[in-house]
Amino acid sequence: MRNKITIVGAGNVGATAAHWALSRGLGDVVLLDVVEGVPQGKALDLLQAGPVEGFSYRIFGTNAYEDTAGSDVVIITAGLARKPGMSREDLLAKNVAIVKACAEQVCRYSPDSVLIVVTNPIDAMVYTAFKVSGFPRNRVVGMAGVLDSARYRTFIAEALGVAAKDVSAMVMGIHGDNMLPLIRLANVSGVPVTDLLSAEALAAIVKRTQHGGIEIVNHLKTGSAFYTPGLAAVEMAEAILFDQKRVLPCAAYVEGEFGFSGCFLGVPVVLGQGGIERIIEFPLNPEEKVAMAESERAVRQQMAATGL
Ligand code: NAD
Repeated sequence: MRNKITIVGAGNVGATAAHWALSRGLGDVVLLDVVEGVPQGKALDLLQAGPVEGFSYRIFGTNAYEDTAGSDVVIITAGLARKPGMSREDLLAKNVAIVKACAEQVCRYSPDSVLIVVTNPIDAMVYTAFKVSGFPRNRVVGMAGVLDSARYRTFIAEALGVAAKDVSAMVMGIHGDNMLPLIRLANVSGVPVTDLLSAEALAAIVKRTQHGGIEIVNHLKTGSAFYTPGLAAVEMAEAILFDQKRVLPCAAYVEGEFGFSGCFLGVPVVLGQGGIERIIEFPLNPEEKVAMAESERAVRQQMAATGL
């Protein structure tokens, strides 16, 4: 059986995720958008990379949810992206309506799928998809932590002049200014970064990570990041489709973990077949607890604004 991955939204993030999904051999891809012609054109263009890149999976562009039927994983990227001067919260009202419409259709045609939500503000949008789909919490997951952690790891690697893949570091909490890049757990091949970088240097890296999205928005001026966001969603899809038991920071619906309940928060999870297999809980220090509580407060404000 070939895996089937639907990507809703054929814009920057969606089309880039499709590109990564094909090049990493995840399965057949359906690219869907409301705009007529865009998913069809981008899908055809990507399909024609097959002979050069050597992938044998197919990609199909469509405006009809019937074509998404029976998907194993659905990545939702539909919605507006930020422009300079906009916060992720500014997107909320418009994107709630879009994500609601997408989730309704997706769960109708792929009732057994795992949903990976990318649309911002992510912690509220993944909650919207969770509420609308009625799926169990293990099958609705938000992408933010993989991206934020990749940014954090990149900045640490740059500061030390080492390979980024040897940097292990995690960002928890909300996908916003209150996110929590964990300093005490960050390490380079097992060596704590606190032994390698000054407190000032680490504070600057944390701050840059927290504002990593807007740094790119300010460069681009017409939209937000998409190469690494697209890859991060595909990394999660791959872990699910191939039952890899990857431990990745994701927005998960907490029910008591880390002392929080009834909202989505960025926490480390085990991703495998069926989605989130479990949340990995560990003791937080007092400052981390405060930061997570701030994240939770901000997430709950966003949740209230969804009206769900
Ligand atoms: P984009 O404008 O390039 O693409 C969005 C696409 O969604 C467009 O093609 C649009 O036609 C489509 N769309 C709108 N309404 C739709 C609907 N009802 N059904 C299907 N498709 C619909 O934007 P982008 O750069 O691809 O970003 C997409 C979203 O992802 C934004 O909300 C952005 O903020 C978010 N994002 C999140 C993260 C994260 O870390 N979670 C990172 C980057 C971007």
